[in-house]
Amino acid sequence: MTMIVTGGRVVAEGGVVNRDVMIEGEKIAAFLPAGEGLAAHPGAEVIDATDRIVIPAGVDPHVHLMVGFMGQRSVYDFASGGIAALRGGTTAIVDFALQRRGGSMVKGLAHRRKQADANATLDYGLHVIVTDVNAETLAELPELRARGVTTLKVYTVYEEDGLKLEDGQLHALMAEAARHGLSVVLHAENAGIVERLRAEAVAAGHEAPRWHALTRPPIVEIEAVSRAIAFSRDTGCGVHILHLVAAEAIGLVAAARAEGLPVTAETCTHYLALTEEALDRPNGHEFILSPPLRDKANQDRLWRGLQTGVLSQVASDEVSYSAAAKALGLPSFANVANGITGIEARLPVLFTLGVDQGRIGLQRFVEVFSTWPAEIFGFEGKGRIAPGYDADLVIIDPVTRRVMSTDSDYGDIGYNPYAGMELTGFATGTIYRGKLVVRDGVFLGEEGQGRFIGRTPPKRPAL
Ligand code: MN
Ligand code: MN
Repeated sequence: MTMIVTGGRVVAEGGVVNRDVMIEGEKIAAFLPAGEGLAAHPGAEVIDATDRIVIPAGVDPHVHLMVGFMGQRSVYDFASGGIAALRGGTTAIVDFALQRRGGSMVKGLAHRRKQADANATLDYGLHVIVTDVNAETLAELPELRARGVTTLKVYTVYEEDGLKLEDGQLHALMAEAARHGLSVVLHAENAGIVERLRAEAVAAGHEAPRWHALTRPPIVEIEAVSRAIAFSRDTGCGVHILHLVAAEAIGLVAAARAEGLPVTAETCTHYLALTEEALDRPNGHEFILSPPLRDKANQDRLWRGLQTGVLSQVASDEVSYSAAAKALGLPSFANVANGITGIEARLPVLFTLGVDQGRIGLQRFVEVFSTWPAEIFGFEGKGRIAPGYDADLVIIDPVTRRVMSTDSDYGDIGYNPYAGMELTGFATGTIYRGKLVVRDGVFLGEEGQGRFIGRTPPKRPAL
């Protein structure tokens, strides 16, 4: 099976080129002079990318499909969430497998694989969430590595959900993980400060969504990032800071990287597009997520972090609780499920605010959307358009503009965080392993086409 993607501007290593891309089977085979692909390979399937931009498909390093809250299920599972991702130009994700306290990480991994393997519609890897560090846990690390898990997820908050690791456990885990070439990905917030401020706010009768941000001030995140960097320095363990939003933490990450520590960080689509003022809207509770949205000046510094490359990826932190599920915890901010959807909007939001509005160039956009997440999270053969790489490509329309609405997403979520925003850069075609699986928003693939990807240890791009 040969496919030719012709007529597009292709974002390749070293620059944007006008070339035809030849695909053989599941792999990119070669670049050909523009317009000459079909003549060279009559009978090939032709994808016309005239007036379009062709980029390596997105890798979303931080998503939660098929999760529950107060008896509610997220709208997306590994089939529908994967379709939403593909519509948004993403062909690979990293989701999470949970170790239950007192339980085995390997069993948690096997359980999540069973949930995903039957119907996943895209490639996926798993971080294992570690909630209990003991001799048995530490002894499982080589087995996790053998099963393709190279990253361990740790929470420094959410004791009420049975997720938080104490510092002594985190330090011990990092020391042992480093010995086996594993890294930690961290939800970095200081539990003590959050718990005290929340208790005070609740006791004072404060319920409005804005209190979610007020009870998680930036120091909460700054301290936890600082602690993680200190632990990395002491143990040699790689640390990736998830969903970084507090601007002061960017400086900490930059300093750690300048020092040569194995530290990386991501920010998220919603932090780049929304500010804490969203919490004051009538549907402000729908914007409750952690760490919380911040102000405009902070947001500008996140963009600078992407410009300098200190922030090396933009993740969605996808959680598709429906509008009804988000409302369950009302009236108090303290009881609303955290998280918003973004797996599909990551592409047009980042393209519009980044490339179209001139904050980052096309090359950097591709780096933080595709290339660096693939490298940092060990997806071999993804994240670039180059011969030998997986034929995972997205064809973007950089011209057509569309106003987002509550039903822009594939799933019936009932709200969209970006509703009302006029965006461009939507995918008109997504090619996954050499097959056109989405055309103009319509899924052409099949459930179960996705594969679990065993990942290799991180390669961290130089600053
Ligand atoms: Mn988190
Ligand atoms: Mn998350």
